[in-house]
Amino acid sequence: MSNTYDVVIIGGGPSGMTAGLYACRARMKTILVEKLLCGGQALVADTIENYPGFPEGIKGPDLAEWMLKQAEHFGLEVKIAEAKSIELKDTGKNAFRIHLQEGDMLEAFSLILATGAAWNQLNIPGEKELAGRGVSYCATCDGPLCRGKDVVVIGGGDTALEDAIFLTKFARKVTVIHRRDKLRATKILQERAFANKKIEFCLNSIAVEIKGADKVEAVAVKDVKTGQVSEISSGAAFVLVGMTPNSGIVKGIVKLDEKGHIETDDEMRTSVEGIFACGDVRRKLLRQVVTAAGDGATAAFSAGHYVEGLSSLRG
Ligand code: NAP
Repeated sequence: MSNTYDVVIIGGGPSGMTAGLYACRARMKTILVEKLLCGGQALVADTIENYPGFPEGIKGPDLAEWMLKQAEHFGLEVKIAEAKSIELKDTGKNAFRIHLQEGDMLEAFSLILATGAAWNQLNIPGEKELAGRGVSYCATCDGPLCRGKDVVVIGGGDTALEDAIFLTKFARKVTVIHRRDKLRATKILQERAFANKKIEFCLNSIAVEIKGADKVEAVAVKDVKTGQVSEISSGAAFVLVGMTPNSGIVKGIVKLDEKGHIETDDEMRTSVEGIFACGDVRRKLLRQVVTAAGDGATAAFSAGHYVEGLSSLRG
């Protein structure tokens, strides 16, 4: 029996796990490579309220665990390793080599990229120096350490508002610093945040420095209209300013957009035959667990068709 996988999936978030579920149910020889823990961003989501089927929402880590169990139930093999590079063998016909850490290597007839996205940084003074000492990119992880403190959240998207609301469980006050006068977040989150008495807004403002001797003590903010700089006293600073796609492994191989998202068609096909992409790493309108799962299903279905086509060519 050939050692070549029908499909190698890189990335174990909701899109990758769903691709694994569909590929295994289609009886493709499948392996999913994940560098840390399966679950992706769901692992750091307190409650997910917009994944259908859970009227009262579901804890992100629970959803991640069940998605993995379900895929493994149908035979998904998971390898914990970092995929370092991809080699195209016989371009246009078949077969990719996926080089993993420590010289390990996998061969596949098709490849699904489900590598997600990574949190952006502000790159302002104090951010790096105080990371892990009050500067955080994960409210679910560090929120419980903010009991009784005044904290700031920087950003105006869904993550910033959802996490600001979550942080009010612990913090005395949460100040949301946003660079415009309008928030980007979904209306329902805005309504909840505006109604929450523990949340204050500092709009039209950018954080210019995170201050503190050995832990966060204050955040300096600049009013974008007047240029005036002031300080907000704060025991923690949650930087939640969006994400950058983890597409480095295919840079120069598949077509990316100007922000580094992988370009795909409706069938999750990239610019290279046999390579598919799904979830937050691809260019798309809506980045949610439900759309990631949908992408994963489509990517596996398309990869299945592609590999079947190759088999008929091979006879
Ligand atoms: P996002 O939607 O890209 O929002 C990023 C926010 O950070 C924006 O408000 C942006 O300001 C601000 N920002 C970006 N760079 C900045 C900088 N250098 N300085 C100051 N502010 C900066 O990112 P996200 O909130 O992490 O969400 C990512 C995706 O996940 C989105 O598609 C979102 O809908 C989805 N998501 C969904 C849920 C949910 O459905 N419950 C929860 C979390 C995330 P501007 O608005 O001015 O650009």
